[in-house]
Amino acid sequence: MTAPVRHPLPVDDRRPHAIVIGSGFGGLAAAIRLSVRGYRVTVLEKLDQAGGRARVFRQDGFTFDAGPTIVTAPFLFDELWTLCGKRRADHVDLVPLEPFYRLRFNDGSTLDCSGDPDVMRANIARIAPGDVAGYDRFMRQSEEICRIGFEQLGHVPFGSVLDMLRVAPDLIRLSGHRSVHHLVSRYVKDERLRIALSFHPLFVGGNPFTASAIYGLIAFLERRWGVHFARGGTGRLVSGLVDLIEGQGGTVRLGADVARIVVTDGRATGVVLASGEALPAEIVVSNADVAWTYGRLVPEGTSRRWRPAKLARAAYSMSLFVWYFGTDRQYPAVPHHTILLGPRYRDLLDDIFRRKVLADDFSLYLHRPTATDDGLAPAGHDAFYVLSPVPNLLGGEDWATMAETYRRRVEAHLEATLLPGLRDHIVTSRLLTPVDFRDELNAPHGAAFSLEPVLTQSAWFRPHNRSEDIAHLYLVGAGTHPGAGLPGVLSSAKILDEVVPHASAFATR
Ligand SMILES: Cc1cc2nc3c(=O)[nH]c(=O)nc-3n(C[C@H](O)[C@H](O)[C@H](O)COP(=O)(O)OP(=O)(O)OC[C@H]3O[C@@H](n4cnc5c(N)ncnc54)[C@H](O)[C@@H]3O)c2cc1C
Repeated sequence: MTAPVRHPLPVDDRRPHAIVIGSGFGGLAAAIRLSVRGYRVTVLEKLDQAGGRARVFRQDGFTFDAGPTIVTAPFLFDELWTLCGKRRADHVDLVPLEPFYRLRFNDGSTLDCSGDPDVMRANIARIAPGDVAGYDRFMRQSEEICRIGFEQLGHVPFGSVLDMLRVAPDLIRLSGHRSVHHLVSRYVKDERLRIALSFHPLFVGGNPFTASAIYGLIAFLERRWGVHFARGGTGRLVSGLVDLIEGQGGTVRLGADVARIVVTDGRATGVVLASGEALPAEIVVSNADVAWTYGRLVPEGTSRRWRPAKLARAAYSMSLFVWYFGTDRQYPAVPHHTILLGPRYRDLLDDIFRRKVLADDFSLYLHRPTATDDGLAPAGHDAFYVLSPVPNLLGGEDWATMAETYRRRVEAHLEATLLPGLRDHIVTSRLLTPVDFRDELNAPHGAAFSLEPVLTQSAWFRPHNRSEDIAHLYLVGAGTHPGAGLPGVLSSAKILDEVVPHASAFATR
């Protein structure tokens, strides 16, 4: 792998130096915010492209976003452009989707989820007329949770246990100690609707039966700010943020694998790359997985809170099996986002999260970005990815032998449901398995969303954005507070504005 410097440093740059390890959305957003606050920023990324889970696979004329495709709370992106004196809309086009997505239940019935309350009520009335009033009441509750859980608390650092005590009454009032599924079941009776209103924690690696009811906020978050797709793919947001960093005089170094964080007298003072190159810095921000940061990057014994035994005991999120494929025909009846539910819900989630066994059945998410943007595939073709939540590697599955068998099963299911004749039309294909999460992205146990979002690993209990015990070390990204998903990791970077001193606090060289 090469180590290109994408933006050579001006030799006379005397700003205090901030190193960001990793170029996921959390790392890129952190780099922008730090550069705006006076730091000279260097982002170090081990892979040969930026984006982390949101990197892009290009092959045979197709463009595949590797990971995130659903952009919610777009104002969190807009803010980053605004901070640099620019307008996001001049650089990246976010297309609002309507409907947001289609759910296809195992009995063949469907529910289109819409941002328009009247359309949504009519859609629900078609499958569960008795639940329309309950749906309205649930959405009022989701709005309340969103107002407190996202708007008021989403950007609070939770660096002290007092922060936690302060929100405890709200948490209890909003049933935060209960699961999302429990919350939803209080409002609606139809099992399909219970799935439709409770599956959202899966977007951030959580099990709807154990993730806190606080994640019930996502339903309202989507209605309030919409569901968007970046024209050209999510990769456009990644390259847009890299441009912002470089425009601020920062650097994004690819193929730069950080081997360790240097800690001197309890303070982070720089990093050493796998190549042996040492880079000093006033502050270090790690966007690598938290369990990797504390387990592998910091010198042993320097973090008292996140010791190896605690990391070993932690609960890790599920992993994902993702199959990217292109077809030489189009499937115009298939919307941009489809969730294909299998015959089991709770038991399948139990297999994935608790028993950690690869089940014979599955629920799938099918992405067809060419429904919105035909530039992502050659003319007359469709680009797809299909994603299946699977156990993380603690389950012991041997993906080297299982991957192709599993792909064939998924292919047969898609052919029987949404994509007739599929196998005769595939012209390009690639797979991503839990092993790739572990080996390419340094994700312990191949967890696709880092630490599982359960109450005992949330807010104050989640790794803090300012390291609990190493001065000048900060953390952003999915495994830190507030959690995974684009709004979560962008918010983790926003919290740095509260906990990192302005660059002027450091004497210039
Ligand atoms: C398939 C998939 C689909 C998803 N869909 C959605 C969606 O539709 N909407 C949504 O909101 N969220 C979605 N998510 C979740 C979301 O993508 C992630 O939570 C988020 O992108 C993670 O960002 P991050 O900041 O934690 O960094 P990551 O993307 O995890 O990036 C971390 C980076 O650090 C680098 N790194 C690690 N160790 C080192 C080292 N030692 N030296 C240098 N670099 C290092 C890695 O190579 C990587 O590039 C999806 C996730 C996946 C996997």
